[in-house]
Amino acid sequence: MKRIRVIAALLAVLLLLTAWTPAPREAGSGKASVEAPAATQAAAVEPAGAALPEEAWRMILVNPWNTLPEDFTVELETLSNGMKVDKRIVKDLKDMLADCRKAGLRPIICSAYRPQATQERLYKNKIARLRAAGYTQETAEKEAGRWVAVPGTSEHQTGLALDIVAASYQVLDKKQESTAEQKWLMEHCWEYGFILRYPSDKSEITGIGYEPWHYRYVGRETAAAVRDSGLCFEEYLDSLKTAKAPQMKTEKPQETAGAS
Ligand SMILES: [Zn+2]
Repeated sequence: MKRIRVIAALLAVLLLLTAWTPAPREAGSGKASVEAPAATQAAAVEPAGAALPEEAWRMILVNPWNTLPEDFTVELETLSNGMKVDKRIVKDLKDMLADCRKAGLRPIICSAYRPQATQERLYKNKIARLRAAGYTQETAEKEAGRWVAVPGTSEHQTGLALDIVAASYQVLDKKQESTAEQKWLMEHCWEYGFILRYPSDKSEITGIGYEPWHYRYVGRETAAAVRDSGLCFEEYLDSLKTAKAPQMKTEKPQETAGAS
């Protein structure tokens, strides 16, 4: 991982020195290839796998191995249910939920932005309950981390993540995937810039078990590219870095014949 990053950073610097051109602004016409050069340049500045500075906010990687920067800040907007999200995602989020409702469904946001203090409280409470159940401090901390993200490693702290459930089934478990709401969201979320962040078969890479309710905003263009790639976000960010190498395969990353 580290070596790949270092190599990616070096390549990025080389690219910057030789052929820097301003990256195109997101035009909404959604071509995955547009984003590749951007991500390369960013590797030199932003090791967390981000893109251009103006895109970095929605490309931020937060997982058990990538802690939120201590100076992280976000401008929040409060939703009608009192929960908060990064104000830059509100329009797409509202569009997605409105269209989901138009399809006759009832999606409910049950978790959105969480400040560090909230995450700390959840985490400490979990440890306390485990301690009370007989765990040692050490094993309790380990076990707690499986259920509640260690403070600083929860994507909910970015304001870009949402847990959305069906009004008819508000339990966060695997059965959630069978609700009409999740089926609709999984099929359409990319159209609004969201990805299902923790797919069933990527737990070892994401560090989080299957969560058929946790959606993460990455922007429409990126969400479409992630969907087409069949990769999880970690893999996708890595692919951006390696795709930068000398023989840039720019045009259409794939014309897949269906098999993914
Ligand atoms: Zn979540």
